[in-house]
Parts: sequence; structure tokens; C-alpha cells
Amino acid sequence: MSKPVTLPNLAGMTRPELQTALVASGAVTPDKARMRTAQIWRWVHSFGVTDFAAMTDIGKETRAALAERFTLARPEITSRQESVDGVIKWLIRFAPGVEVETVFIPDVAGSGALCVSSQVGCTLNCSFCHTGTQGLVRNLTAAEIVAQVQIARDDLGEWIAPSAERRLSNIVFMGMGEPLYNLDNVAAALDIISDNEGIAISRRRVTVSTSGVVPELRGLGERTGAMLAISLHATRDELRDQLVPINRRYPIAELMAGIRAYPGLSNAKRVTFEYVMLKGVNDTPADAKALVRLIAGIPAKINLIPFNPWPGSSFECSDRATIDAFATILKRAGYASPVRKPRGRDILAACGQLKSESEKLRASARRRLAPAETA
Ligand code: SAH
Ligand code: SF4
Repeated sequence: MSKPVTLPNLAGMTRPELQTALVASGAVTPDKARMRTAQIWRWVHSFGVTDFAAMTDIGKETRAALAERFTLARPEITSRQESVDGVIKWLIRFAPGVEVETVFIPDVAGSGALCVSSQVGCTLNCSFCHTGTQGLVRNLTAAEIVAQVQIARDDLGEWIAPSAERRLSNIVFMGMGEPLYNLDNVAAALDIISDNEGIAISRRRVTVSTSGVVPELRGLGERTGAMLAISLHATRDELRDQLVPINRRYPIAELMAGIRAYPGLSNAKRVTFEYVMLKGVNDTPADAKALVRLIAGIPAKINLIPFNPWPGSSFECSDRATIDAFATILKRAGYASPVRKPRGRDILAACGQLKSESEKLRASARRRLAPAETA
């Protein structure tokens, strides 16, 4: 398409934004605003169309007026890799130097989860996480979060599939970035993704993972109704301070109090505790028992994540036997199948391996700027 990229994109707007934009542009008169919004919404979010010409229940003139003023184009896919185990990873470029990774993880039962990013990079620097080494480039907009889901639906060819047949059934905010540092956009994206006349992925099938931004937990629950996952990784402040440095600001006791107060928490809506298995760091039977004690009374699932190495990482993954022993203690305490199978490791698509080229671009941009600055 040869359209200038500056046209506003309708594909990632919330319903109220869409209606306002249509009327403000003059392409739609106020008396038709509601109807046109509903029509366009369905085409974009139920059928995934990216061309106004496909909107056959809208008159030709209006379609032409829309096409002059707006775009529905997807962002650019810089690369697409498919792993031997069926994991698909897309590198998506929203603007020069603004790239994220999105990963589809098919499940054995036919369903599957899309792991989306909420930021380009991350301000936090958890010592075992590749994204954390990148620094923050910027928050993603709601439209950019939604675009990741749209790209996956395009690729999987699932726009008009009956929901029972769709492989993309769940969404996890476990890609790049800390979603609770970008809650406004995460919440707006969820409004769009969960809309029943659109992508229609229920809020109960969306999990937001946080490193523990305690003051935002309540807002997350109230505004999104999403399932909560907490990157715990240690049960003592002394160790968690090292692994997840945000712990220095919101220590474990505060975090636990925030989790207990999470809106809607119940046996049907449990919090997931993520715990990365780091050899010789947090993986002893005593650590497992401490974990069980710490979360006692909270409706919870536990996800043990074998550490996924990345170039330059200083940790090692715990041995299989150590992970099994740890898991056995959790199982005895009533937590079912707690070990997460690493997926997509061969394409660096597993948890904590994501890191875009954005930093390199920024570094080269910095180098280009440097002579001018010092001149
Ligand atoms: N920033 C959010 C969400 C993204 S990280 C958070 O930290 O929760 C998603 C999960 O992957 C987190 O539990 C994170 O701790 C974990 N993770 C990060 N690096 C990892 C690695 N190298 N191996 C395994 N899991 C990792
Ligand atoms: Fe950021 Fe999460 Fe990685 Fe920590 S684990 S650096 S919070 S993306």
C-alpha cells in the first residue's frame, strides 16, 4: 500500500475513540455515527479486514472517504520464525527502533496462548531476564498491543473460525516489558480484545504477569478483570532483592498483602506464582517448603519455569532431578503439575529470552549523534 503512514489507524482504537474519530474526520455524519462504528468494528475485529473496500455493507462513497482519511494497515513484521515444537515468534516493528517480539505457544489440546509484549524493553532489570538487559525504549500503545493479536490471527488464519476451533484461545502478558507500568494501555487493549463482537477472548483467558508493582494490582483487577500472575522467584527479601530488584521498593510482605487483596481472587480465579529454577540459587527443598508456607491460604497455582539461558547470562538452569524434587514438594502440598515445559528455546522464544534489536538501533543512533554532541 502506498498510503502515507501518518493516516490515523482505526484498527487499534477503542469503540469510543473510533466513533469520535469517524465523526471528527467528516467521513461519517453524527446521525450515522453509532451504526457506522458498529459496522466498522465488526469488519475490523470480527473479520480482521485491513481494507475499507471489503466493508460491503457500507456505501462506496463512504468507504472511499474512510480510505482517504484512515488506514487499517498492520505494522510491519520484520521476521517470523517457527520452532520445531510449533512455537511461532514474530518480530514486529511499529516504527524505526521500536520493535517487540510476540510468541504463539500451541497447546497439546489444540488451544494455545499468545505471549504479548507491553513495552519495548523494560525499566526493571531482573538479573536472569534478557529483556531486562535492554533498557526501556517506550511503552506500547493500546493499538500496538492489539496489533500483536491481530497479526497472530492473520497468520493462524483464524478470523472467522468458530471459537471452539481457534488455536489462539488465551493471551498472556509475559513478553517484553512490565505491564503494570503501562496499565492504561494494557486496560484499553483488553477492552478491545475481549469485546464480544470482536476478537472476543474472554478476560478470564487473559493473564497479566507482573514482577510485583504492588500499588497497581488493585487497578489491574478492577479495570481489566484479568487473571494475575506474579513473578515471585524467591521467598526471602534478601534473595528477591537480587533477582527481582523491584522487591527493594515493594518487599515480599507488601506484595503478599497486595495479592491477597486482588479483586475477584477465588478458587475459580487463582493467582499464578511464577518461579524460575536457578541452579544453586533458589532451588533447594527448603526453598520449596518456604514457598508453600509463604503462599498458604491464597488461591494459587504455581508455575516452575526452568531457566532459559540467553547469550551472556550468568545463571544456569537447575538439574532435572532438582526441579522434580522441588515439584514433588509442591504437589504434596496440593499444587498440580507445576513445571512449565520450555517451548521455542531453539528460536529464543522462551520466557525471558525475548530481546529486540531496538537497543542496537538506539545504540547506533547514539553513535551517529555523538560526534554532533561533542562538536
Ligand atoms: N515483566 C513481567 C512479564 C514479562 S516476563 C514479569 O516480570 O512478570 C514473563 C516471565 O518470564 C516472568 O515470570 C519472568 O520472571 C520470566 N523470565 C524472565 N527471564 C527468564 C528466563 N531467562 N528464563 C525463564 N523465565 C524467565
Ligand atoms: Fe522486566 Fe519482567 Fe524481565 Fe523483570 S522479568 S526485567 S520485569 S520483563
